Amino acid sequence: AKSSGKSQCKLYESTMAIEVKSRTLLEVELKKAVDEEQFLLYYQPLLDYKSGRITKAEALIRWDHPQYGLIPPSEFINIAEEDGLIISMGEWVLRTACEQCKTWHDNGCPLSVSVNISAIQLQNDFFAESVRNILNTTGLDPKYLELEVTESELIKRIDENIDKLKELRDMGVRIALDDFGTGYSSLSYLYMLPISDLKIDKSFIDEVCSDRRIEAIIDGIILLSKGLDLDVTAEGVEKEEQFKLLADKGCDRIQGYYISRPLEASRLEEFYTSGGAV
Ligand code: C2E
Ligand code: CA
Ligand code: CA
Ligand code: CA
Repeated sequence: AKSSGKSQCKLYESTMAIEVKSRTLLEVELKKAVDEEQFLLYYQPLLDYKSGRITKAEALIRWDHPQYGLIPPSEFINIAEEDGLIISMGEWVLRTACEQCKTWHDNGCPLSVSVNISAIQLQNDFFAESVRNILNTTGLDPKYLELEVTESELIKRIDENIDKLKELRDMGVRIALDDFGTGYSSLSYLYMLPISDLKIDKSFIDEVCSDRRIEAIIDGIILLSKGLDLDVTAEGVEKEEQFKLLADKGCDRIQGYYISRPLEASRLEEFYTSGGAV
């Protein structure tokens, strides 16, 4: 507990340091960070409830700043999106996650990896080509790669985005709709999107045990998903009572601190090998 307190404190200090920096300075440092690959991926396991096994891991980026230590994505992703750095940063994420996933396979861990994709990346003309190239060079079977996109980002250019996602789906890559329930016109687009997975946003999971109306919404999402042949993941599960309730309701996968925090790649492999004991 002592060491985790220390690392939390370190994260807090780094956040403060970043906050007082000017935006321009941050942009310059971020550009340098992309050139020098000052990033790390952490991987958070997803538990498949039926098999009781870890079957997938979500790649989550951290900026390993030479001065401030690990900086969370909430501090820099939107800046990277605004000045276009997200294209090269996102390509690094995708390549690193696919290489890592291939390494897990070579070590006897048949995990899938899911990667967060910004709409700006998706809309880039070379995105599908870059995914294809990364799969070819890493030798990862496309069925082990999942791309997570958020509903609110897709809506902005929906027809174009559907075409782009279909091209990726046709390559054999899985598409997940992230943060489900936080956007606006969810239901009307759900059947048009070439998705195979839906992730229920943490804000619903937080209240599932305390608010009957939220519970009813989750019941509805799960029923709808089954009807549309989508796998459902509950995100941000922190407590045993949430885990039990969501598993009982038929969520296919559970993700959250209750299962595990995001881990370094080697620790994720250990977690898988040890049976992902909760
Ligand atoms: P997200 O995709 O919704 O990812 C889940 C976030 O919730 C992660 O935060 C994860 O560490 C955190 N989380 C998971 N389980 C729990 C839990 O039980 N309790 C709590 N309190 N939090 C939990 P993280 O790693 O800080 O990432 C934040 C967001 O940054 C992500 O939200 C995603 O939108 C974005 N992001 C992360 N990595 C990438 C990336 O490589 N590319 C892009 N474009 N965005 C990324
Ligand atoms: Ca995600
Ligand atoms: Ca999410
Ligand atoms: Ca989110």
